[in-house]
Amino acid sequence: MPSPLEIVVVPAFTDNYIWLVHDADSGETAVVDPGDAAPALAEAKRRGWTITQVWNTHHHWDHSGGNVAMKEATGCTVSGPAGETIPGRDLALSEGSELRIGEHCGTAIEIPGHTLGHVALCFDQDRIAFVGDTLFAMGCGRLFEGTAKQMHHSLGRLAALADDTALYCGHEYTLANARFAVHAEPGNAAIAERLAEVEAMRAAGQITLPTSVAQERATNPFVRAAGVEEFARLRAAKDSFRS
Ligand code: ZN
Ligand code: FE
Repeated sequence: MPSPLEIVVVPAFTDNYIWLVHDADSGETAVVDPGDAAPALAEAKRRGWTITQVWNTHHHWDHSGGNVAMKEATGCTVSGPAGETIPGRDLALSEGSELRIGEHCGTAIEIPGHTLGHVALCFDQDRIAFVGDTLFAMGCGRLFEGTAKQMHHSLGRLAALADDTALYCGHEYTLANARFAVHAEPGNAAIAERLAEVEAMRAAGQITLPTSVAQERATNPFVRAAGVEEFARLRAAKDSFRS
């Protein structure tokens, strides 16, 4: 058994999270969605970690804008969705594509909706998944390119991962999502409880991620939606919701 992956958050811009994934056995470090190279490079340097890979979940600039600078600084390879324009991409990821860091093996799954080529990077043995802007804690990404039907199906795929899978999202949106969730499901005690927890965490300056599949199944109205219609209604309501 390889040692557990070490995952470190690097905040970027106003609410983006870049994730550093370090495998102590091989000394490899992967960077998930470096919208900005500088803070990711600085954190790796501070820890004495060598960056060998970049993994992108989707093409948006706040996730891939630092790719080329990361390559120039480290010589790393860049893996990103096959169906999208990814700066500096070396390896194209589609359904079932394999990702490796040391002895840890992950697979890409296609989860369109936020963008059409969006992928999640799932390390099933490690119970870790990087979900980009598709699923957020207690919420989901906006439908910039895909349809409600696609997004509903994509969220279903993520919700079908093992209950104890840690989900690493691309943004800190949990507090606003929790406020909408309470409004969407006023009778859900787990949601009310989680809102209080999230308020306390944010007041203390803490990050609210990763979340877990079990938590999302209990408290994410978009994951809990009974069908595409209900999902679409919730997504439209959230788009205009002011907490
Ligand atoms: Zn995005
Ligand atoms: Fe984003």
